[in-house]
Amino acid sequence: MTLPPSAPAWGRYERLMPAEIEAIFARHPIAYLPWGALEYHGRHAAIGLDGLKAHGLCVALAKVAGGLVLPPVYVAANTIKGVKALSFPRHSLDFSESTLRLLIRGHLDQLADEQFRVVFVLCGHVGQPHYDIIKDEARQFNGRPSSTHVLATSECDLVSPDMVKVNHAALGEVSFLMHTDPDCVDLARLPSDRVPTLEADAVWGPDPRASSAEQGRTFTAAFVTAAQALITRALTRAPDRGP
Ligand SMILES: [Zn+2]
Repeated sequence: MTLPPSAPAWGRYERLMPAEIEAIFARHPIAYLPWGALEYHGRHAAIGLDGLKAHGLCVALAKVAGGLVLPPVYVAANTIKGVKALSFPRHSLDFSESTLRLLIRGHLDQLADEQFRVVFVLCGHVGQPHYDIIKDEARQFNGRPSSTHVLATSECDLVSPDMVKVNHAALGEVSFLMHTDPDCVDLARLPSDRVPTLEADAVWGPDPRASSAEQGRTFTAAFVTAAQALITRALTRAPDRGP
C-alpha cells in the first residue's frame, strides 16, 4: 500500500535502511526513545512491561506525528529489586544511577549528532530517582546550545490522573500492555479471592484484575493527543536554539 503524501511518515529505526531513514527524517526530524526496564511486575505481567509499553506508545504517537522510533533501552536504576521493605529479589536487572546517567547522556548526544530536531524520551519506568535522573539530563542538555530539543516525560505525566494514576503492574500499566502486547499478560495469575497487594503481588495502584485492552486503547489515545501537542510546540521552538 502506498501512503498518501500527506500521511505522516514513520518507521522503526533499527529496521530501516539509510535511504528510508533519510526520507522520514526529511519530513519529520523527530526521534522517539522508549526507556524501559527489566523489572519484576508480578506473576501476571512480563518483566519487560515498561519498555514494551513505552515502545507501543511511541509507535502509536509516531503514526500521527511522524518520525523514527528507536528500540527501547532496557537499562534501569531503582527497580523493585532494591526496595528494602519488599521481597522481590528475582527477575529484575538493577543498574547503578551513574550507569543510567551515562547512557541517557550518550543517547542524547548521539541523537543530537544525527541532527534530530526533537528527541522524545518516554520513560516507562518511573521509579525514583531513575525518572528524575533522565529528566535532569534532558534539562541539562536543553541548557546547552543545540538545534535539538529534548522532551523527557512519561505517560503518567501526560494522561489525566483520573484516567491513569502512577502505578506498578496495576490497572493502568497492565491495560496498556494488553493493548500493545496481549501475549505478555495473564490476568488468571492474579489472586481470585482477594485484592492484589504490593507486598504479595508487586501491584501498586488500582486493581489490575479490571484491566482490558479496550482501556489500554483509550489510555493510548489520550496519551497521543497530549504528546502530539508537546511535540508540535517543541518543533516550533527547536530552531531558535541553534548554535
Ligand atoms: Zn512498570
